[in-house]
Amino acid sequence: MLTMHGGPAAYHVLAKPTGPICNLDCEYCFFLSKEQLYPGDRFRMADEMLETYIRQLLESHRTPDVTIAWQGGEPTMMGLDFFRRAMEIVEQYRRPGQIISHTIQTNGVLVDARWADFFKEHDFLVGLSIDGPEHIHDAYRVDKRGEGSFGRVMAGLEALQQRGVDVNVLCTVHAANAHAPLEVYRFFRDDLELRFMQFIPIVERATDELLTIANAGWGDSNKQARPLYVQAGNQVTDRTVGPADLGAFLIAIFDEWLANDVGEVFVQHFDSALANWHGEPGAVCVFSETCGLAVALEHNGDLYSCDHYVEPGYLLGNIAETPMIDLVASEQQVSFGRAKRDSLPAFCRGCEVRFACHGGCPKNRFTRTPDGEDGLNYLCPSYKAFFNHIDHPMRLMSQLLHQGRAPSDVSAMIAAEQAARFSAVGRNDACPCGSGLKYKKCHAVSDRSTSG
Ligand code: SF4
Ligand code: SF4
Repeated sequence: MLTMHGGPAAYHVLAKPTGPICNLDCEYCFFLSKEQLYPGDRFRMADEMLETYIRQLLESHRTPDVTIAWQGGEPTMMGLDFFRRAMEIVEQYRRPGQIISHTIQTNGVLVDARWADFFKEHDFLVGLSIDGPEHIHDAYRVDKRGEGSFGRVMAGLEALQQRGVDVNVLCTVHAANAHAPLEVYRFFRDDLELRFMQFIPIVERATDELLTIANAGWGDSNKQARPLYVQAGNQVTDRTVGPADLGAFLIAIFDEWLANDVGEVFVQHFDSALANWHGEPGAVCVFSETCGLAVALEHNGDLYSCDHYVEPGYLLGNIAETPMIDLVASEQQVSFGRAKRDSLPAFCRGCEVRFACHGGCPKNRFTRTPDGEDGLNYLCPSYKAFFNHIDHPMRLMSQLLHQGRAPSDVSAMIAAEQAARFSAVGRNDACPCGSGLKYKKCHAVSDRSTSG
């Protein structure tokens, strides 16, 4: 049945069938503490709720494309039968012409050949959390005994790749890997042969009180209680990526990608940026003008404004009592989404890269602007540097798209521009690369060494 509602034509739900329950104990994970929201609960989505959710999701979409996205905690802890049942329900309620995409975000620990066969059969896009090579990955991604998870994740990846399942690596950027962008990127590209990547900054916002506990380590492994995490305070933990470090990380990867991998490797940040430069939809919520169309569904049907705001003040209602589309279209949720734009400080409103950044995610807006206004994003130094750095190649790629050409042609264009700039420079001139060194001490040396 096609519902005629006044809500959005399409929206995104991150469904958490195990709530926050996970088989790992990653030190930076904000989900794990959310167990305290449902004391004594078993944290398993019941069959009735599974059917209610999928039925409502399919009925309320007015676009042919619908994405069904599973997230945690760790969703594979529900077991394969839960997902097989989900597929049956999808077939039961799928409307003619509806195209269903399935995605799941997993830590990979439980993924084996059976799971991989299932994902392949139903054409899942599997988001796999890997933070880099073993010594980086295991810095924070540990199990309940405090032991690294790298080996088990690699076994899961191997099972997926053997069956040709589409894998998107989700890499968090934090204090333990921000200094190693190329090591991380090349590991994914060359060693793991992954072609889809997402880099998510870890910003653990904290109050003074939370900071004391968090910096001492709050995993089960050291028996430290993990307090309920809410978006509050203007401090950060020492695992948090530095305010300018995410920018430096992305710039290093962008330059490597631009020179070698456009059209071959897909990095969500870069695709999203191109959408904004090209003036088309497709930017991720963090870099969109408003948000609010990506809600989080708890195991019991409670719907929250966003996966980052699973906390009492952002509970919209329960989908067993109020249709999900009405909650998504509610004044509370619409205001939540508009606040992303309406609460921007003047510093952002006048920013040269606002069209690309839009102030970032509200959850990270807890610092002050240079003129003392509250509400600036903690990552602003990163965003300013990154978006200014990519401006020229993004403009070129947008032009190429307008001309009906492949964006990957940009690599040759940039290489030709650089060659022209370098050919006109004298040995004692400042190097055009901006290093501050004389050309003869900088690129003239590398040009000689690479020219044989
Ligand atoms: S609060 Fe942040 S993560 Fe959530 S929908 Fe808005 S921009 Fe996206
Ligand atoms: S770069 Fe900084 S000032 Fe500019 S829009 Fe983003 S957060 Fe605001």
